[in-house]
Formats: sequence, structure tokens, C-alpha cells
Amino acid sequence: MAKDKQRFETLAIRGQMARTHYQEHSAPVFLTSSFVFENAGLMADTFAGAADGIIYSRYSNPNTDELIRKVCAMEGVEDGFATASGMAAVFAGMAAFLRSGDHVLASRAIFGSTHQILTGLFPRWGISHTYVDAADVEQWEQHLRPNTRMIVLETPSNPGLMLADLEQAGRLAEKYGLILNVDNCFATPYLQQPARYGAGLIVHSGTKWMDGQGRVLGGLVVGKAELIEEVRFFCRHTGPALSPFNAWLLSKSLETLSVRLERHCENALQLATFLEQQPAVERVHYPFLPSHPQYELAKRQMKLGGGILAFELRGGFEAGKRFLDALKLCSLTSNLGDSRTIATHPASTTHSKLTEAERLAAGITPGMVRLSVGLEHFDDIREDVVQALEHRV
Ligand SMILES: *Cc1c(COP(=O)(O)O)cnc(C)c1O
Repeated sequence: MAKDKQRFETLAIRGQMARTHYQEHSAPVFLTSSFVFENAGLMADTFAGAADGIIYSRYSNPNTDELIRKVCAMEGVEDGFATASGMAAVFAGMAAFLRSGDHVLASRAIFGSTHQILTGLFPRWGISHTYVDAADVEQWEQHLRPNTRMIVLETPSNPGLMLADLEQAGRLAEKYGLILNVDNCFATPYLQQPARYGAGLIVHSGTKWMDGQGRVLGGLVVGKAELIEEVRFFCRHTGPALSPFNAWLLSKSLETLSVRLERHCENALQLATFLEQQPAVERVHYPFLPSHPQYELAKRQMKLGGGILAFELRGGFEAGKRFLDALKLCSLTSNLGDSRTIATHPASTTHSKLTEAERLAAGITPGMVRLSVGLEHFDDIREDVVQALEHRV
């Protein structure tokens, strides 16, 4: 069967590098910083790009190449670069293109460190931005400026789980010749493929669902070949390369991404449905709940609802903190996309530096709790949540 005809699950497993002369079944790790050449001519040709070959692990490595090829196949894009963390990917995806005087249109509820780049770093280099509501793509056109160069968005958003309509965003980017840059970390290519709607760049934190077990940091920028050419130039010479070991581990993890996500999403939907019936809970945010204001859109652009849900406790800020304190099974940690269920209280942690008004604009209420639903038995997760709800007062 031709490789490009293979399906997602098969590509994630069989997209492995060619075997070495040992005929190993599972891909080895290439912990080497550089690679040897037979002779000066071949070395010169490789440096000139006239011969295929690996030069140095800051540029490429068999393990990072394998990971990139797999993720590109899963996202349906041409090329990519792997980075040491998701943030290195986010930064490279923007910094490789933006220059002094440029403007970025960004969805407001964006990952905390992405917000810091836009507000704390880019202004130093003369790059400005405007925040827009993810759920309101129709309004975005009026915020464009003559110097707008890129649209940066996350869908679903963190932690409010609001969606941006990728089809509309893609049309807007096309109409004005802008680069559409989508952080696809929450959905993964198993649930949503932004390139189908015209995204030129897709960034990932491999740290989350891709690894899925809270072990390593890693990131990727993938997308259209001509854009990745720029990203590669930027990354080769600024040095955010992913370590071969982490690339090996992430590539192995991709083999189980589809089955893990099926269960994460099933547990999350069940828990969201259950929470919606609890009197202590004012509101539940989950894309595949019929009560979600963008349920129809979610069904259109996502295969399943994802592993993250958020809910608002009656009793506000203190109730949120007490709920977290009462949890026995779920972990309190600032990660997500793990086999273990994780609870966070955004108002007192990740978003505590925002003003109350800024938090509300980003959809974060004082009593909001975010759960990254794990792979424990559903009844154990539910029982922990039930006893913590009882203890929240
Ligand atoms: C975690 C995360 C990142 C950053 O990834 P790191 O691997 O922690 O650097 C970027 N975007 C989103 C949506 C994330 O959840």
C-alpha cells in the first residue's frame, strides 16, 4: 500500500525510519551530535544541499526527522521542524516571519506564554497585535490593518473551551494573503486538521497529548513547505532543536495517540455530562456537550470533543480552591494531556496575573476549574470529583 494512502493509525506506527543493518523492529535512538562523511567531496555536497545526508543534530537527526514526518503525515502537511518545547515552536512560528512594523491578529484566550511573547517581547521589536474573540471570526475582518501579516489562534481555547471557526479563519487569511498559524495542541491532528482549512502553519506542544504521560517537553511547527523553509532557517541558526531522545519518545507515543485520545474523550464527555447534572455546578464547558454554544461547529470541525473540560462551581473563587484541596486522586499540577487526571484553578494560578476584567473577557470566572481527564477508570475519576464537590463548602 502506498504510504500516502495509509490511514492515521497506520501512519503513526508505520511511519518509522528505515532499519539499520541490525534490522531492529523498533526504531533506535541516535544520540549523536554530528554525523561522519566518507570523504571531503560528499561532505561538501551535503553542505551544499546537493546530497542527502545528516550533518549536525541542531539541524536534523534521524529521530527528529521521523517524528516530523509522522506529524506531517497526520496533519496532512508537507514539512516541519521539531523544537525543544511547545513554546519554542510557538515562538519560531511567529518570529521566523514577523518583522518590525508588522501586526498580528490573535485570539484572546491564548496560551499564557504566547500572550507574554505578544505583549512582553514583540513590542520591543516593533511588532503589535490585536486580540479578538475566537468565537466571533465574522468580526475579525474589521480588526485587520494594512500591516497585518499573521492570524494566530487556538481552538479549542484554554481554559474556556471556546472554538474558532477554522473554515472562516482560513477564508479570511486567504482573502488578505495572511499566514494562518494555528496552535493545535488541545485537539491534536487526531481530532482536527487545520491545514484542511488553509492553515499554513500548525504548532504543537508535544509535551501534552502527544507524549501523553507527562515525561518530556517537545514541540513542532509543521505546514506548507515554503513557510517551513523560513522556520527551518530560523531554527537551525537560533538553536531550539529537540533532543533525539525526546524525539524518539514522542514518536513512540504517537503510535498510541489515537487509542489514548478515544478513551480520554470518552471519559471527558461522560464526566462533562455527569457534572452538568450536579447542583453544585453552575456551568460546564465541553465542545461535545449539546449545551455548548458552538456544539454544531464542534461536530463539524472536530472528530471528538477532546480531553479537557472546564466547569464553574457555585461559590466562586474560594469554592474552586477548596474543590482542588479536596481531590484525592486527581493531581494538582500545571500540565495537561496526561494519562493522569489533572485539575487546575485558573483564577488563582495560570491566570492570576490578569485583572478580574481581563479574566472575564477571556471567559475565566472565579469558580472555574479545568480538568484534563485522564485514563484512570471512569468510576474512580467520577468518585473523586463527587467527594470533592461535597467538600467544596
Ligand atoms: C502547553 C502549551 C503550549 C506550550 O508548550 P510547552 O511544551 O509547555 O512549551 C503552547 N500552547 C498550548 C495550547 C499549550 O497547552
